[in-house]
Amino acid sequence: MESVDMKSPCVKCSKGCGITTCNGCQQAYCIDHFNQHRQELAIEVESLDQKHDLFRNNLDRKFTEHPLLLQINQWQQDAVNTIQMIAETARTLLRKLLDQTKNEIEKSIKNLADELRSSRECDDYTEIDIKKWTGQLRMLRKTIESPPTILITENETLVMPLISVHNQASTFATENFANHTATVENSTHPSERFDQIVGKAITSEECRVITCNTWFVSYPTIYGSGRYSSGAHRLDYQIEKIGNSPIFFGITSSLESVRDNDENATSIHG
Ligand SMILES: [Zn+2]
Ligand SMILES: [Zn+2]
Repeated sequence: MESVDMKSPCVKCSKGCGITTCNGCQQAYCIDHFNQHRQELAIEVESLDQKHDLFRNNLDRKFTEHPLLLQINQWQQDAVNTIQMIAETARTLLRKLLDQTKNEIEKSIKNLADELRSSRECDDYTEIDIKKWTGQLRMLRKTIESPPTILITENETLVMPLISVHNQASTFATENFANHTATVENSTHPSERFDQIVGKAITSEECRVITCNTWFVSYPTIYGSGRYSSGAHRLDYQIEKIGNSPIFFGITSSLESVRDNDENATSIHG
């Protein structure tokens, strides 16, 4: 706060003299209206804080209830449904075949029992009949004990789309957030390229173009490939697209180790 010319009236009431100026808006206020101005700012900050909280909650929800997660869930459900349907169809068919075999055996047993009973009642059986019945019984036992004639084959191909997740980092960056794109252009050193990257950035066109996503909290540091020990050198960069954070161009010693957050480095010039 600084005192102002006594002639400057308060911007709010024009009656009292502005005795103080707000450093932010450069307006003069009387003491009452200055306090009121401060309160208005406090309300604004409070509302910003609430908006921030809201954004934070939305962010959490957006990432935990991501539509792609729902897509994977749906795929899983569809796949499970398909497999359950195939298994149920196979079970139904197998039950039908097993019942059919069981019915045939039961029918044969009943026929044999009927024949035995009637022969005993008539008392007209001979060794030939006994031999025949023994043979029939052996055959039935063999039918039960022998391995089943039903087979399960697994050679049919199940046509089901398989899914996988890919990170299309460059597309993601281009479509959703403001980027910086810089290109090495017409320099006196045509071999100059973007070289080592600390942080998140993508090179393209044989390392002549660099794109970095300014959405990420930490800024990437991108080093050029050339090393220059003396003389004047011209390196031209064309900024094709500028994001909403500053770009810094500078030179540093190649003896300095590559590091993150070079804005704090003492030996960088630019
Ligand atoms: Zn102000
Ligand atoms: Zn006033």
